[in-house]
Amino acid sequence: MTDMAGRRAQLAENLARVEERISAACAAAGRAREGVTLIVVTKTYPASDVRLLHELGVRHVAENRDQDAAPKAAACADLDLTWHFVGQLQTNKVRSVASYAHVVHSVDRLKLVTALSDAAVRAGRELGCLIQVALDAESGERGRRGGVSPEGIEELADAVGAAPGLRLDGLMTVAPLTGSYAGRQRAAFDRLMEFSSRLRAAHPAANMVSAGMSADLEDAVAAGATHVRIGTAVLGVRPRLG
Ligand SMILES: *Cc1c(COP(=O)(O)O)cnc(C)c1O
Repeated sequence: MTDMAGRRAQLAENLARVEERISAACAAAGRAREGVTLIVVTKTYPASDVRLLHELGVRHVAENRDQDAAPKAAACADLDLTWHFVGQLQTNKVRSVASYAHVVHSVDRLKLVTALSDAAVRAGRELGCLIQVALDAESGERGRRGGVSPEGIEELADAVGAAPGLRLDGLMTVAPLTGSYAGRQRAAFDRLMEFSSRLRAAHPAANMVSAGMSADLEDAVAAGATHVRIGTAVLGVRPRLG
């Protein structure tokens, strides 16, 4: 077997295992499998893996650093992929991100809303935006892994909703490592769902809930997540921090 065929077989096997986990979690929660979209987080892995994943049927991929994502997206521009940006985002990277990303999961401050809106309008594109909620942040602060404190969701959502070039798609969270939700993924995701219900009352189309990674996708699906972001379980343990 060539290296590429070996890698393909490995990815296919991992994907099948993740698919089984998602299906089982949906069944356990009485949810339709179609209600959960798998986003494969390809950070630190090469564009060749993105191509193999596409061959294997993956249509949603995510990255967390513009430096890595921009060249990868360019190398895969011929593929019908939806690119999700899930990392903490500096305003000086926004113009680049807006050139390839379809959905930004990490909107957590007004300055970023303004910058994303300007960049989307300039690029002539519409960018989907999720408000990243930090369940470990005090009011007025941002979380250690990014995100706005729950008190800040409404203001940001209204700003995205009113911003040219942006579309408010919903909420995202990363299970906190600190604070009262540390180690309590299910409770954290349940809390996110409460914020999502409140958000949808004012913005009915903002029905995406992005939660759950390799270690906790079952908790996220049980809580009601519509999108899970899976890296390690599909691609393997990352060669470096990312
Ligand atoms: C890396 C990353 C993931 C995927 O994490 P795994 O544990 O590798 O599945 C999901 N969401 C965000 C924001 C990430 O940075």
